[in-house]
Amino acid sequence: MAAQPKCLPPLDLGAVEPPSACAVHRRVRSHDRETPPAEPPSESPAALRVLQLSGYHGQPTSAGLLVARFDAGQRMRRAVKGLAGFWGAMVVSVFLPVAHFVLVPSFFFFGIYQFFKRLRVSELVRGAHGVCPDCGAEQDFETGARLALPMSVRCAKCHRGLTLAEVA
Ligand SMILES: [Zn+2]
Repeated sequence: MAAQPKCLPPLDLGAVEPPSACAVHRRVRSHDRETPPAEPPSESPAALRVLQLSGYHGQPTSAGLLVARFDAGQRMRRAVKGLAGFWGAMVVSVFLPVAHFVLVPSFFFFGIYQFFKRLRVSELVRGAHGVCPDCGAEQDFETGARLALPMSVRCAKCHRGLTLAEVA
């Protein structure tokens, strides 16, 4: 019978991490700590578009819309990432009794649907900021991710519906 490897570390009461000095553990942990290779950015820096924000009364104000753009390579990476996410869920759902009859084909086809959908998306809205023309409150507006102008937003303070549109 092979002798157990001596892997007990010297007792260190001040140690923060639990001691695990076995060779195997050490190898795994040092691998984890390796920095991953630098990935190309998943999107270009978001560009700020100046738009007009109008309400019911008051002078329209100008508002900024942050828009992220994806080039062909970034669109492909987003699409593959989406596909991997759904197909990963599909693999996990194989192990769920009964539910897998529905989940596996659903994740399979939804993954493909998402892949082609993401491949077509070249711009996404990341946020909007401006001053409500009706009550004067400066704020970040909640927007959908799809870029379609004019866009309806709501003031968080006076709760009025406002319209973001191209500057006339
Ligand atoms: Zn308002």
